[in-house]
Amino acid sequence: MHDTDPLLHDFRYLPYLPLIYVAWSNGELSPTELKNIRVIAAKRFAPGIDDKPVLANWLVPDSPPSATQMLRLLRRIRELSNRSPRRERETLASLGDALARAAGTAPLPEVTRAIQELEEALGVASAEAVRELLHESERGAVPGDTLTLHAPPDRLSGAPFDVGTMSRLLDGRYHRERNRIRDLLSGGDFTHVGEVSTAEYREQVFQWLTRLADEGIGQLAYPEVTGAAEDLGSFMACVEALSDFDISLVIKMGVHFGLFGGAIYFLGTERHRALLPDVASLKTLGCFAMTETGHGSNVQSLGTTGTYDPDADQWVIHSPDDASRKDYIGNAACHAQLAAVFGQLIVDGASHGVHAWLVPIRGGDGAALPGVSISDCGRKMGLNGVDNGRLMFDQVRVPRENLLNRYGSVGPDGVYQSDIPSPSRRFFTMLGTLVAGRITIATAALAAARGALTIAVRYGARRRQFGPAGAPEVAILDYQTHQRRLMPALARAYALTFTLRDVVDHYLSRDASTAREVEALAAAIKASASWFATATIQDCRECCGGAGYLAENRFAALKADTDIFTTFEGDNMVLMQLAAKGLLGAFQAELGETRVSGILRHLVARAGAELSELDPLTPRLTSSEHLRDPSFQAEAFQHREDKLLWSAAGRLRSRIQGGMDSFQAMIECQDHLVSLGRAHADRVTHERFSAAVSEVKDPGTGAALTLMRDLYALSRLEAEQAWFLRHGVFEAPKARAIRDEVNALCLEARGMALSLVDAFAIPEAALGAPIAR
Ligand SMILES: Cc1cc2nc3c(=O)[nH]c(=O)nc-3n(C[C@H](O)[C@H](O)[C@H](O)COP(=O)(O)OP(=O)(O)OC[C@H]3O[C@@H](n4cnc5c(N)ncnc54)[C@H](O)[C@@H]3O)c2cc1C
Repeated sequence: MHDTDPLLHDFRYLPYLPLIYVAWSNGELSPTELKNIRVIAAKRFAPGIDDKPVLANWLVPDSPPSATQMLRLLRRIRELSNRSPRRERETLASLGDALARAAGTAPLPEVTRAIQELEEALGVASAEAVRELLHESERGAVPGDTLTLHAPPDRLSGAPFDVGTMSRLLDGRYHRERNRIRDLLSGGDFTHVGEVSTAEYREQVFQWLTRLADEGIGQLAYPEVTGAAEDLGSFMACVEALSDFDISLVIKMGVHFGLFGGAIYFLGTERHRALLPDVASLKTLGCFAMTETGHGSNVQSLGTTGTYDPDADQWVIHSPDDASRKDYIGNAACHAQLAAVFGQLIVDGASHGVHAWLVPIRGGDGAALPGVSISDCGRKMGLNGVDNGRLMFDQVRVPRENLLNRYGSVGPDGVYQSDIPSPSRRFFTMLGTLVAGRITIATAALAAARGALTIAVRYGARRRQFGPAGAPEVAILDYQTHQRRLMPALARAYALTFTLRDVVDHYLSRDASTAREVEALAAAIKASASWFATATIQDCRECCGGAGYLAENRFAALKADTDIFTTFEGDNMVLMQLAAKGLLGAFQAELGETRVSGILRHLVARAGAELSELDPLTPRLTSSEHLRDPSFQAEAFQHREDKLLWSAAGRLRSRIQGGMDSFQAMIECQDHLVSLGRAHADRVTHERFSAAVSEVKDPGTGAALTLMRDLYALSRLEAEQAWFLRHGVFEAPKARAIRDEVNALCLEARGMALSLVDAFAIPEAALGAPIAR
C-alpha cells in the first residue's frame, strides 16, 4: 500500500476513515465486529464494493493494516479535519462527513446513518475517539509516532509545610554533623566513579577515606579518647550522611573506624585505646577478622585459636584448618596492617570462648608478615571499592598484651580471669558492645532507600505516559499503582528515620537497664530497615522504567551495594530470631528465672491477663477517623506483637514439656519467632514515630508527618492483614476500609511527595542521577 491508496483519496471512502482507524487503533473490536462493519459497509456503499474491494481489504480480521498504513490514514484524517470547524466533528460519523466535505463532496445521508448505527452498535465512545484522533501532538496513537515527553517536574503541587523545617526535624540532634558532610559532598572532591577497574575503584575509595581522615571524621569515632565530639552519635550521623554518596566508601570507613577501631575501643583497655589516634588518622590501617569460611552467623563456634604460651609470654594465633580461614574481611586484601582477630582463647589447655587479639598482618612494604597468608576475595556483586580478603594464620606469635582484654585477660602469672564467669554470657556481652555497627548499617540502608525514593519520586512527577483524550499526558506519579508503590515506602522511610534517631539516643544513653532491650531492638530494626531498603530500591528502579536501568541513574549501584546489608552485621533471619529470643528473655530478669522452661511457664500463665485488650468494636469499625486514630493503630500493632509473643511461648513450652530440647523446639517455632521479630519492629517503629510526630509544634510539618504516620501504620496493617483477619482482629469490611484509606492517603501524599523527598536534603552531587535533576 502506498500514498495513492484509493481509500485515502477516493472521496467515496472518506466517511469511513475515522471508523476504520478507530477499529484498528484501539484494538477493542473483535474479528466478528470488524466483519460486521465490512458487511454493513458493503450493503450501504452502493456501487462496486465487490469488484473494487478497497474498503473490504482494510477490514480483514487476519490481515491488519501495517503501522505505516495506519500512520498515513491518521495523517489523512487530520489533514482533512483541520479544514472543518470543531463542532462539525463530534462523532465518528460527523467527522467522516466533515472529511468528505473537506474534500469537496457532499456525504451520502445513508452512509452517515450507517456509520452512526455502527458506532452505536459497537459502543464506541465517539466523542473521546474523535478527540483522540485529532490531537496530533498529544500521544503516540500510532506505532512510530510516539513522542516521549520530558516535562519539568510538577512543582505546582508544593508542600503545605516548610521543607527546611521538615529537614531539620529529620536530621535530629546531629544536624550540624550531617550538614558538614553535605558540604563536603557538594565540594567537588566526591564525584561518582563511572566504569573503572576494581583496582582503580579501590584506590579512589582509599583516597576519599584519606580525605575524611584529614577532615577529622575518624576522630569522632572515639570521643572519649580524642575529645573530638560529645559522643559516638556524631560519627554515626556522618556515616549515615555519607551513605547518600558511595556505599563502598561507607563500608570501608565503617570497617576501619567502626569495626576495627570499635573492637579496640569497646573490647580493649587503656593500652589498646592509645592506638586510636593513629587509627583515626589512618597512620594505622586495620580490619575486623571475625567471619570464617566455616562459620559466619555462628560466631561462637569459630575455629581460629589463640593459645597462651607461658614460656614466651605470648599468644599463638593459628588457623587449624581451611574452615578456620578468615573470609570476606574488609580492608584485608590491600590496605590493612593490623587485624582484630576473633578466635577461641585457650590457656593451659582450657578454652574460655571467643576473644579478640590485635595481630599485625602486613609490613611497611605491604607484604604479608611471616606466618600470615593473605588472599583477595576478588570481584563481588557490589561494594567493589572495598578490598575484601582472606587470612590464614600459621602459629603467628603476638605479645600477651595484644589480647583485647576488657572482658577477659591473662596476667603475667598466666592465669585467665574475667569479671563475667559464664563463657556464654561473656561472649554475648562482648558482641553486644559492637551493636553500634548494626545500628549504623540500618541507617546506611535507610539512607540508600531515601536516595532511591528521591530519584523515583522526582522522575515520577516529571515523566508522563498516557492520558485522557484531548488532554496532556498524565505524570506517572498520578497513577494509583505508582503511588501505591512509592508512597507507603516514603512513609516507612520517614517512620524508620525517626525510629532510628530514637534507637541511637537509647544506645548512646548507655543505660545498663535497657541495654538488652536496645540490643534486641537494634537487631530487629537492622533486619527491618535492610529488607525494606532492598525491596524499595527494586521498586524505585521499576518505577523509573528503562531509565532506572541505566547505571548513570544510580539504581545499579544502589541495588548491588546495599544487597549484602541483609547479610552482614548479622544475617537478617538470624537477627529476627535473636530479637524474638530477646523479647522472650526480657521476662527472665523480671521473673528472676534462669531456665527457659521456667520463663515460658510464667509467660503462658500470664497470657490471659497480659494480652493487650482490644475494644470489642475494633474488628468492625471502618470510619476514616477511626483508622487514622493513632491509638487504634498502636493497639493493633501491640496486640499482634503480644499475641505472637504469648503464642510463641506456648508453642515452645509445649515442646519443651514434651521432652524436646530447647534447640529443637526453637527450630520448630522459627517461623513464629521471625514473625514476632517483624511484629516487634513494626510496633516499635509506629510507637517511636508517633511519639516524634506528637512533639512537632509547627502545624504544616505536623500535618505532613501525621499523614506519613497514618500511611505507615495502615499500609503495614494492610500488608499483614492475613494475620489480623485470621485472628478476628479485623473483619472483611475493615480490611476493605483499610485498603481504601491507604489509597486515599497515597493520593494525599502524592500532593506533597516532591517536598517530602526534598526534605531528605540529599546533595545533588551525591544523588548523582540525571533523571532526578
Ligand atoms: C561484602 C562482605 C563484607 C564482609 N565484611 C566482613 C568483615 O569485614 N569482617 C567479618 O568478620 N565478616 C565480614 N563479612 C562476613 C559476614 O558478616 C557474613 O557473611 C555473615 O555474618 C553471614 O555469614 P555466612 O556468610 O557464613 O552465612 P551463614 O551464616 O552460613 O548463613 C547462610 C544462610 O543460612 C541461614 N541461617 C544461618 N543460620 C541460621 C539459623 N540459625 N536459622 C535460620 N537460618 C539460618 C541464613 O539466614 C543465611 O540465609 C562480610 C561479608 C561480605 C559478603
